Amino acid sequence: MNARAPKGTADMLPDVARAWEHMQRTAQRLFARYGYEPVYTPIFEHTEVFTRGIGEATDIVSKEMYTFEDKGGRSITLRPEGTASVVRATLEHNLVANGQSAKLYYAGPMFRYERPQKGRMRQFWQIGAEALGMAEPGIDAEVIVMLMRYFEELGIPRQNMRLLINTMGDENCRPAYRDKIAGFIREHSTALCEECNRRAETNPLRAFDCKNPGCKDVMSEAPLLRDELCDDCAAHYAAVKSSLDDLAISYIEDPSLVRGLDYYTRTVFEVQVDAGLGSQNAIGGGGRYDRLMEQYGGPATPGLGFALGFERTLLALEAAGVAILGHPVAEVYVARVDAALGGAVFALVQELRDAGIATETDYQGRSLKSQFKQADRLGARAVVIVGPDELAAGEVTMRDMTTKDESRIPLGEIAARLKQLLG
Ligand SMILES: [Zn+2]
Ligand SMILES: [Zn+2]
Repeated sequence: MNARAPKGTADMLPDVARAWEHMQRTAQRLFARYGYEPVYTPIFEHTEVFTRGIGEATDIVSKEMYTFEDKGGRSITLRPEGTASVVRATLEHNLVANGQSAKLYYAGPMFRYERPQKGRMRQFWQIGAEALGMAEPGIDAEVIVMLMRYFEELGIPRQNMRLLINTMGDENCRPAYRDKIAGFIREHSTALCEECNRRAETNPLRAFDCKNPGCKDVMSEAPLLRDELCDDCAAHYAAVKSSLDDLAISYIEDPSLVRGLDYYTRTVFEVQVDAGLGSQNAIGGGGRYDRLMEQYGGPATPGLGFALGFERTLLALEAAGVAILGHPVAEVYVARVDAALGGAVFALVQELRDAGIATETDYQGRSLKSQFKQADRLGARAVVIVGPDELAAGEVTMRDMTTKDESRIPLGEIAARLKQLLG
């Protein structure tokens, strides 16, 4: 058998898993201050949730989905992103019926069949937030600020990040603009790659984020949606920018920022970092999707949100020199002078754990010396030494691993003394 994890997946070993848990806890704490509640949707959905929502012509749907038929003959897809599922759930459970609004966040694995590279995996982990039922431009600014604050809270300095914003227009102004870009691509077809030429027919705006340098040059001359917005979209975009200004959040307007999904309308945004990520420099982003719920047969419901990638955020943190320290595996290590003291040690270890102290001990009959080595390796702040003479006197020896001081402590007081030492 092949005993390695499948290509594009990685085991999340304790150091990385601790970082993931830390990022989730930070999200819980911060997002709650903005009124967000947790939601868990299934890891797989009916395939239409993604084909309809994200769009047939997008790279995600046309090339990257893990789609299979289940034993009941249904077409099932592992979620490639979180928004479509959250909007589907919001509709199914009427969370925004009768003018209600909902603020939801999620964390978990997503799946895309892509060529694995640094910061890009086939199973990758995202944290995301969705605000449904609110059309006001102020909520766009709030969502963007929450994302920026999140990265800052984790320890990425604000000056390492770049916030890009753009508007995608809506059903009033985008179709004419799409046609215009399709025409532009046809006019410049010889200078553009094959893929971009195909995009003229399927998804012309995607030509703006073609990675081919020749295409980038040509597309930099293309007409900008910013100049073709309808009045409502122009007013919305202006209001979002002025709210960001009010909050002293600096941003760069990037008319080529189109995000790769069909459901976006109006505001889109992306947070990029320079260091640590190479060409995959976006650590998070999102936008507004005011028509998405209608794609599922629901009522017109405005919404917007963002998602941030765990792997890339971790790389950005490393590049910023931020270490996410986990708890030590053991705060206290109980060592024994000889194996015959196992029963007393076992009782003491349990007592300390019941007192709320992370406690570890030896289960392999190691020498005292190697028990101390293990205590060091586990990061223990103190070692409690259980020996026959001390036990006979109803005491143990406590060694402070920082100062190396040792003292004899009555058994009945050891838990309290350790808690005092651990602060
Ligand atoms: Zn191209
Ligand atoms: Zn418009």
